Amino acid sequence: MADNILVVAEARGGDVRKVALEVITAARVLADGMGGDVHAMVFGAAGIGSVAPKLAAVGADVVLVVEHAGFETYNAEAVAATVAAQITSGGYRAALFGASAMGQDLAPRIGAKLRVGVAADAVSVIAEAGNVVVRHPMNTNKVIATMVLSATPALVSVRPGAVSVGSTAKAGTVQVVAPAMDPSVGRVKVTGVSLGSSAKLDLAEAPVIVSGGRGLKAAEHFSLVEDLAAAFGNAAVGATRAVTDDGWRPHSDQIGQTGRQVSPNLYVAVGISGAIQHIAGMRNSKTIVAINKDKDAPIFKVADYGIVGDVFEIMPVLTAAVKAAKAQQ
Ligand code: FAD
Repeated sequence: MADNILVVAEARGGDVRKVALEVITAARVLADGMGGDVHAMVFGAAGIGSVAPKLAAVGADVVLVVEHAGFETYNAEAVAATVAAQITSGGYRAALFGASAMGQDLAPRIGAKLRVGVAADAVSVIAEAGNVVVRHPMNTNKVIATMVLSATPALVSVRPGAVSVGSTAKAGTVQVVAPAMDPSVGRVKVTGVSLGSSAKLDLAEAPVIVSGGRGLKAAEHFSLVEDLAAAFGNAAVGATRAVTDDGWRPHSDQIGQTGRQVSPNLYVAVGISGAIQHIAGMRNSKTIVAINKDKDAPIFKVADYGIVGDVFEIMPVLTAAVKAAKAQQ
């Protein structure tokens, strides 16, 4: 098993998250380079094993299903104990996690248990001469560090949105794994989960993000952004730090270097200047549309489509056009 790769496939609410599919895609590339298999481990309440075909469709040879009522929500102690036990018994060459809130909590716990380091927030993971080679942006993406991980197991967290979900289908043979620790006897008990305001559609999962900046002038004008997002139907609302610092939107909506990293199919930047710290969080979006009254605004350098004009004039027209287009679908 020495060259097999383990992925902890993040699930929430009985389904896998997009980041899980991205990390399996990255693991597939790594495993092919190593000549090994991808084993995707998924935790959840009874029935979570039904996600196996989705994991197989993006490259999991084996799906390790850990079902327990205590895994309805993330249980750090029991998940870490079970993943560490699996890595040890399975002799994996590497284990990959999403660099999501869950993965950022889990990977170091496992590193501490196994006494190995974690290469965090990777944007690519490949095999080179038997080593796991990880690329990781630093200094607001100005520098890319390349790390060669020669130790086994290599623990790597992969930045959400850095890898496009692949389509290399594998068998996805299901194996049931017992938790290494009873999730109900841990020191931490999750008594409830409260979702943030934009959690109707998570920024990391949303195919469309409409994001607003200080060009909207006041919190109440964010209704223009919300209206366009509602017209798309499958859109989340994001914001710049200038906006969250001013309290117009919650900090959970902030996109950028010190906020969320996103990679939707479509990112609409409304009244956003395009500071380097903001671009660091959204430049991986597939298509970027920017609306700004300043034709020299830096956001236009990363935009695929730019509208030079006043957001107060353009947004209602754009929203009406999207509604009309949707009505014809
Ligand atoms: P502004 O820069 O003020 O831009 C407003 C834009 O709106 C302008 O381009 C203007 O031309 C346009 N505008 C004004 N009126 C209209 C109108 N009527 N119609 C159309 N356009 C109009 N920022 C982030 O976003 N995310 C981060 O994670 C982040 N992290 C940071 C970390 C550090 C350490 C530091 C120092 C800064 C960070 N920032 C971050 C802040 C960042 O540098 C910028 O200050 C911020 O992104 C600017 O937000 P903005 O584009 O909304 O505002």
